Amino acid sequence: MGKLDGRVVLVTGAARGQGEQEARLFVAEGAEVLVADVLDDQGEALAKEIGARYVHLDVSLEEDWRAAVAAATSAYGRIDGLVNNAGILRFNELVDTPLEEFQRVVQVNQVGVFLGIKTLAPEIAAAGGGTIVNTASYAGLTGMAMVGAYSATKHAIIGLTRVAALELAAKGIRVNAVCPGAIDTAMSNPARLDPGADPTGGAAASEALDGLYRKLVPLGRIGRPEEVARLALFLTGEDSSYITGQPFVIDGGWLAGVSVL
Ligand code: NAD
Repeated sequence: MGKLDGRVVLVTGAARGQGEQEARLFVAEGAEVLVADVLDDQGEALAKEIGARYVHLDVSLEEDWRAAVAAATSAYGRIDGLVNNAGILRFNELVDTPLEEFQRVVQVNQVGVFLGIKTLAPEIAAAGGGTIVNTASYAGLTGMAMVGAYSATKHAIIGLTRVAALELAAKGIRVNAVCPGAIDTAMSNPARLDPGADPTGGAAASEALDGLYRKLVPLGRIGRPEEVARLALFLTGEDSSYITGQPFVIDGGWLAGVSVL
């Protein structure tokens, strides 16, 4: 028995990183998974490997969401789970951030989550209820210099999560958020994207990051995408049946406070 037997779940940004691990784990736990991304080659290859279905979905576009729902319902007859995982990060001081850059981060991270909820909630309700997991961040619960646009959108995702939980509870839909700290993916370690340029395939950069997080994070290391996937599984499955509207921090203790020693 898998924890997601009989479930049909769409995971955005699932071609790589945390979304990829969520797709892998959800399939292993018995779900039919729609791997959604803008990285078509990677997404197709992953879907083929794990026995999922790939769908091209730019989360910032409402027409792409409609097409993804149509693909899900024509393949499986229904959909009862969503993981809003896709996101982008840009580094800039607020005063140096071009308006277009700020708006693009909002359009993908914040509008993308809004469109996901708006488009899929009626389908999930029609399926008799289900779950939505939104990917916020450590930076959605506290400030982080140099990532102002990103941090603003991640705070907004927590607000959207709470409101959606209130509005959708009566329809049998639970809505929660994951708030990862530093996780070892291409977002925090771009060397992973170009292993050819790095003979260690990103391992050297990972080691450097680990040195940084050994100092910053009480548990002494950067997180793994598989660990976030297990939290998303908990919030998608029945083990969290009485939980809705909550942000779940997964950060090795980073947000707990600062050490003076
Ligand atoms: P990642 O860059 O490896 O993955 C992001 C995925 O989103 C990619 O597959 C990318 O193609 C996809 N994507 C980007 N724009 C898209 C769009 N418009 N439509 C559809 N897909 C799109 O990074 P990750 O760490 O796996 O990020 C996953 C989520 O976790 C993001 O929301 C990110 O903000 C969040 N997060 C990451 C960290 C971290 O340290 N890595 C920490 C906190 C939160």
